[in-house]
Amino acid sequence: MQFIGGIMDNTEEVTKQIAKLGNQIARTLAKTEAQHKRVVATVRTLQVRCAQCETFSPLPAWTFIQDRYLVPTRGYTGGGYYNDSSIETCHLQCPQCNYRNYLYQRTALTTLIKQSRVPLKDLFDTNILVDENSGGF
Ligand SMILES: [Zn+2]
Repeated sequence: MQFIGGIMDNTEEVTKQIAKLGNQIARTLAKTEAQHKRVVATVRTLQVRCAQCETFSPLPAWTFIQDRYLVPTRGYTGGGYYNDSSIETCHLQCPQCNYRNYLYQRTALTTLIKQSRVPLKDLFDTNILVDENSGGF
């Protein structure tokens, strides 16, 4: 604490405290980022079984089909816009036989994907396809 012209000035102490807090934040963020990378790496080791050919393939090899549904515009015929369906009502396309596996009854898998909070683009190496005409099933 310094007295400059009769006014208390603790700029130096506050600057030190801010720098210390800044370092703590940086360390916490680095730790969080490292943990997030471990979560991504772990989820990507998941082996998913195809309902059609019964082959197991690692999750990143599958293609995620982002289904969409039409929301008709009120009072207007033939208009509307598409919304993304939730993960549970989307499909995974098998890398072996291209069969589109409906995710609806795969509760454990969809729960795991959602709980990991990993963006879909980080889970699937192949393209994430958008299907506006699937209607779910
Ligand atoms: Zn298959």
